[in-house]
Amino acid sequence: MHKKLAFLVFFYSVVFIAQEKKYSQTDFFDFTHAEAQVQIIPIKTRVEGNISYEFNVIQAADTLHIDGRHMQFSDILLNGNTVKFSVDETGVSIIHSFRPSSKNNLELKFATHPKSGLYFINWNSPEIDKENRQVWTQGQGKYTSSWLPSFDDMQEKLEFDLSYEFPSGYELIGNGILKNKEQLNDSVTLWEYDMKKPMSSYLVAFAAGKYDHKTISSATGDSIMLFYRPQDSQMVEPSYRYSKEIFDFLEKEIGEPYPWQNYKQIPVLDFLYAGMENTGTTIFSNSMMTDSIGYKDRNFVNVNAHELAHQWFGDLVTEKNGKHHWLNEGFATYYALLAEKELFGEDYYYWKLFETAEQLKELSDSGKGEAILSSNSGSLTYYQKGAWALHIIKEKIGEKAFKEGVKNYLELYSFKNAETDNLIAEMEMASGQDLSQFVNDWLRQSAFKASEALESLKKSEFIRNYLNIAALRETPLSQKYELLDKALDFPVNDYIGQEVVHQLSGLNSELAIDLYTKAFESNNLYVRQAIALTMKDILQEMKEKFETLLGDASYLTKEAALYKLWERFPESRTYYFEKTRGIEGFYNKNIRMLWLTLNLVTPEYEPEKAGDYYKELSGYTSSAMPFEVRENAFGYLYQIGTFDRSSLENLVKGTEHHTWRFKKYCRDLLLELLKNEEYRSKLENIAQSMNKEETDYLRSKLMG
Ligand SMILES: [Zn+2]
Repeated sequence: MHKKLAFLVFFYSVVFIAQEKKYSQTDFFDFTHAEAQVQIIPIKTRVEGNISYEFNVIQAADTLHIDGRHMQFSDILLNGNTVKFSVDETGVSIIHSFRPSSKNNLELKFATHPKSGLYFINWNSPEIDKENRQVWTQGQGKYTSSWLPSFDDMQEKLEFDLSYEFPSGYELIGNGILKNKEQLNDSVTLWEYDMKKPMSSYLVAFAAGKYDHKTISSATGDSIMLFYRPQDSQMVEPSYRYSKEIFDFLEKEIGEPYPWQNYKQIPVLDFLYAGMENTGTTIFSNSMMTDSIGYKDRNFVNVNAHELAHQWFGDLVTEKNGKHHWLNEGFATYYALLAEKELFGEDYYYWKLFETAEQLKELSDSGKGEAILSSNSGSLTYYQKGAWALHIIKEKIGEKAFKEGVKNYLELYSFKNAETDNLIAEMEMASGQDLSQFVNDWLRQSAFKASEALESLKKSEFIRNYLNIAALRETPLSQKYELLDKALDFPVNDYIGQEVVHQLSGLNSELAIDLYTKAFESNNLYVRQAIALTMKDILQEMKEKFETLLGDASYLTKEAALYKLWERFPESRTYYFEKTRGIEGFYNKNIRMLWLTLNLVTPEYEPEKAGDYYKELSGYTSSAMPFEVRENAFGYLYQIGTFDRSSLENLVKGTEHHTWRFKKYCRDLLLELLKNEEYRSKLENIAQSMNKEETDYLRSKLMG
């Protein structure tokens, strides 16, 4: 009896757990449409509005939950009638005896000060920053519900038609087509956007700020809008280079038409990531904006293609849950690589695969390999191993079957969610092959199949040649001279040429000088860059050649060359300063800040300007600057040990920044400074005079 009872309890609890696991709200309710008016009040960091949902009840239920974090709700009406509800920090639950029915309506008012998911940039800074005031959103993973009552579950897909009220004088870009724009009064403008198809809530987005845009058209007539800040107009061409080519290529390669009404790309300040594929509305980091010199080292092409590929893989067909994250990221990474192969050639394609194979092998060899099919792997696995898996599957089943499988998968799960088995089933159907071995080796196994990857890479003649040269790393120069010399013959391959230069690092024999000379004269930008980055002890006879690197069209090369020359040849410093005066460099002003710093530690050069130069360098730490600029400035001030009061205050503000990486950088640096008595007493002083939210971290460390 006793035993039997225990068995029963056990039995029932299992059933209960299984039920809890199995059912989600989408089994009971199907939301089809949301129409909202959202007021954004930046000066109060506040969002409020009203939203009206249309939904069907699939099976009887007594509670309906809408996600909305830390929100106030009011005026809730179900089919026009007041209804019982309860609110907690995750959202609002409507308590009602729901019966299967269609076209129900739920209306509610909401208000919140978003703690995440929506960011107000530069609204508390002085008037001078008005040009750089922005508001933007970031919904992935479950952050849309921080500013808009919506659904954290990716499986709830509905059509969102949102209108926004925003201060006049700015552009506001949201999902869908801009149906109407209207000045409501002296200070507020209404922006009405219209969507035609359903999507998951995490893809709802808008960005607002001072923007101009350029519209181009795809081969199939889709409208592609490229936004930029007015002050970045000179950077539009190099930043958005190949946008049309990428769009046309992906549409053709994927074989399914672009699924949304239009495509917009908007760069924003202080973004959390490189880019985010909101439906039809990619938001990306303004740091991707570049001039044509910066383009050569760091450009937007890959991110551009990655976020566009997501419009199909992620937005049209969405992973069912985190375990299938590679269906979004692996595909976006792989198709971006295919777009780059189209633009930059096959060597580039194989090089990128080679680089990621090395990283994946290293992770795997250290025992930290991760399975693609898992809900807690890292991005290297979901993105790069995912792309590798697709590369391998295409080799296995052939291009024709691969394309057919992908097309069928997209058509079958359009505007729905999918899991890995759904994809594999389509690939098996298209190819007639059993892919269970592939699933085990590439998707379930945590180790990386390095030897299979290497076999695949070796199909490229370029990779075979590269590996032959790389195999010489430990060989004495006298024994490999001829091979290295031949590798530098015109036209030198970017990657093989760089490998040769790396192998010369630290050598200054006649043979090495010979090869260096040939590498300099190759006039290959990347081979010369490798010299700038890796040559140690610049010999007097190499001086003139090395100085020519200051004129190369690469900010990485210029930065490394300026520093090394300044250090090695003090007698020529004036020449180096003149040659690089006024160059800003990348978005983080890498050349300008190095120039200012070297100037400050060269007292004999322009001593009368030292005050101005210090002020400029320290000014780059201001919270009105993008965090990439601030981080660079903090680094230099630390190296020369001269924080003034305002740069210390700016560092303290950085310890509460919304960008996780920058916040950590500031916190780590602050801890370092607190070890210094002088800085510590200055910081104690600052803790007293700044407001509390900005000094939480500092105070906790001063007490500790
Ligand atoms: Zn992605």
